[in-house]
Amino acid sequence: MDYRRGVVTGESVWRAIVLYGANSATYKFSFGETLLQVAATGRTHVTLDELAPPYAKLLCEALKRHDRQGIATNSRFLDACRAFNVDEIDQDTLHRRTVQYGFANVIDAFPQLSGTPAPVRFYEDRRRSSTSPGLVLRDELVELALSGHAPVLGVETTARWRLVETAWETGVSSALLTPELVYDPESQDLLLQIGQRRKSVTGVVAALSGYQDGRCAYCDQAMAQPVVEHVLPWKLLTRRWNGPDVDAIWNLVLSCRPCNDAKRDRAPHEDWMPWLEQRNNDLIESRHPLREVLMAQTGETATARHAFLRLAYRRATELLPVVWTPFRSR
Ligand SMILES: [Zn+2]
Repeated sequence: MDYRRGVVTGESVWRAIVLYGANSATYKFSFGETLLQVAATGRTHVTLDELAPPYAKLLCEALKRHDRQGIATNSRFLDACRAFNVDEIDQDTLHRRTVQYGFANVIDAFPQLSGTPAPVRFYEDRRRSSTSPGLVLRDELVELALSGHAPVLGVETTARWRLVETAWETGVSSALLTPELVYDPESQDLLLQIGQRRKSVTGVVAALSGYQDGRCAYCDQAMAQPVVEHVLPWKLLTRRWNGPDVDAIWNLVLSCRPCNDAKRDRAPHEDWMPWLEQRNNDLIESRHPLREVLMAQTGETATARHAFLRLAYRRATELLPVVWTPFRSR
């Protein structure tokens, strides 16, 4: 993605924060959503009292979907949200506990990437200010929230959240299970398959879009309408294909419509293949469940994954020898 390849924008840093890095709880996702919502109103200063209602609401809703929203078994904030969901505490009590416990780590942790401060700062922490305590929302955040990117980032955050909570709920990150993310072309959803169980997790477009910075995998142009693309063509399944499952996430990318139309049932030229290898390594860096899924499907190490991809490519082009050369304008 851009941020990692050198071009730093508010949008790419936001994606890096949301899509990559350690999660010990899903607070990051609800906090990010809340920040975008508040910043979209044009506010430049906000108190914890004002952030608390939308922030707690998102986590209360999340807990109704999946009770597991973190690695720790004990969180006073999540317990307050659970208690609110079953009418054990009222709105005022939830509000007080959110302000008291809900922001303890997330305000410090959110702007960190792998333990170092992100190159774009979205807010300044003024919780200890004696005159106006709260957060100062910087121009970078307000601009992002008011830009056309905000809805897309929201959709990507939701997709990432679903993947993470599904991983926790099903125990994928325990690494004892070999999960698969299976693509369902009809619903365009990713289904998590563990043994005989299949569970719809999230839309494949939303799950993959952020890792391509919203750009076509082949021509690198911004995609108006992303199309789900099998890199090694789906048509292989109608031949004597004895390679790995091409309907799996390692082989799925998003492309623009013109590239999709042009490629048809061909594999891309092998010069393009390092892009896929890098993308898969990016997904692995984003951790559960993508990490576990990709490693189970394609190999534990970068070297093993490189060999896996080369072999799959060689077999595919033996059956379908005519390849397509993507046109990259930059
Ligand atoms: Zn394209």
